[in-house]
Amino acid sequence: MWPVLTILALAALATLHLWWRRKFLRSQAAVRNELEQHRSLQEKNTVQLRTQQEALFNSMVEGLLLLDESRRIQLANRAFMTMFDLQADIRGKTILEALRLHELAELVDLLAIGGHVLGHQMQLPGPGERWLHINGAAIFNGGDRHGTLLVFHDLTRLKRLERTREEFVANVSHELRTPLSLIKGYVETLLDGAKDNPEVAGKFLQTIDRNAERLRLLIEDLLTISELESGRVKLNLQSVALQPLVAKVFSDLQSRAAAKRIELNNQGADLAVLADTDRLEQVLGNLIDNAIKYGRSEGTVTVGARATDGGQIETFVRDDGPGIAAESLERLFERFYRVDKARSREQGGTGLGLSIVKHIIQNHGGKVWATSESGKGATFFFTLPGA
Ligand code: ADP
Repeated sequence: MWPVLTILALAALATLHLWWRRKFLRSQAAVRNELEQHRSLQEKNTVQLRTQQEALFNSMVEGLLLLDESRRIQLANRAFMTMFDLQADIRGKTILEALRLHELAELVDLLAIGGHVLGHQMQLPGPGERWLHINGAAIFNGGDRHGTLLVFHDLTRLKRLERTREEFVANVSHELRTPLSLIKGYVETLLDGAKDNPEVAGKFLQTIDRNAERLRLLIEDLLTISELESGRVKLNLQSVALQPLVAKVFSDLQSRAAAKRIELNNQGADLAVLADTDRLEQVLGNLIDNAIKYGRSEGTVTVGARATDGGQIETFVRDDGPGIAAESLERLFERFYRVDKARSREQGGTGLGLSIVKHIIQNHGGKVWATSESGKGATFFFTLPGA
């Protein structure tokens, strides 16, 4: 009896053991499964976070550079890669290996000592002047240094604007100083006794008058430019017939043309443009005045127009003077740019006429350009919407 009972008990124990073992293994597998799921969810979240972070960094206009604790590049965003004209992956490299820029490497050394760098300006080597503004800070995790973050801002446009403004102020001062010193010089000579000689006094007064007129024209052009550049100019747009307006400008400039025996030729077809009449008259006035000033004595100045396929009217002002060299053509519309400074001054030019033309046409949504063949005259074109 006992052996049977013992065998039965052992069998029951073995079954129980097997049951427990299966249950234990099953629960172990379930735990493993749960852990696996948790890990893959965590991985997914990390990847998602990294993708979001990368998208955020890459959407920034500022260049971003993250270095690890051994000063190797950990991350460089898209703006940084564009700023430094980089294509290959630079992660894992040092600044010197990746960029060969000692100034930047020194800046990173400085960061290691001081903890941060603010407002450092750096000019990039290579063709075309480019400037960067750099801020940097060491990243700490608890008390430990974890890496370095550098933020780069492209300063090139600002620097260029600053330089243009400085040049403009220098040019204006120079332009004002020349006629003013002449006026002052002649007045002093008159006061010193020349006024007692009517013939000399007459000549001097004429020079004073000419230079005062030059100052007036310059100030008038400067005010026009500043008004046009402010963007506050309100255009009174209406349909303007070209031919009668050209005829009016021709009649205003007739005496100047006659002085050089220049023939004025109004070839404008019966076309109308959508424009501000006074501003358009100023454009035609400046271009025709230039054609007379710089054109050939006994030559011809022709104004004509045609309708283009895009519904625009293209107007031209042509002379048969000495023309303009190719390298000067694209600079003609810059403020104070003159091909021949002495000739322009002698003709009473301010160097602002074509710049005013460009602003007025652009304010109308049109385009202006010039073509010329040396020795064969110059032609100025502008487009305006047809009316
Ligand atoms: P300016 O007051 O000196 O005439 P503009 O801005 O009107 O100034 O013109 C700029 C320069 O372009 C002139 O100084 C001149 O050298 C050149 N220029 C303009 N129009 C002509 C032209 N029709 N033929 C030759 N050169 C021209």
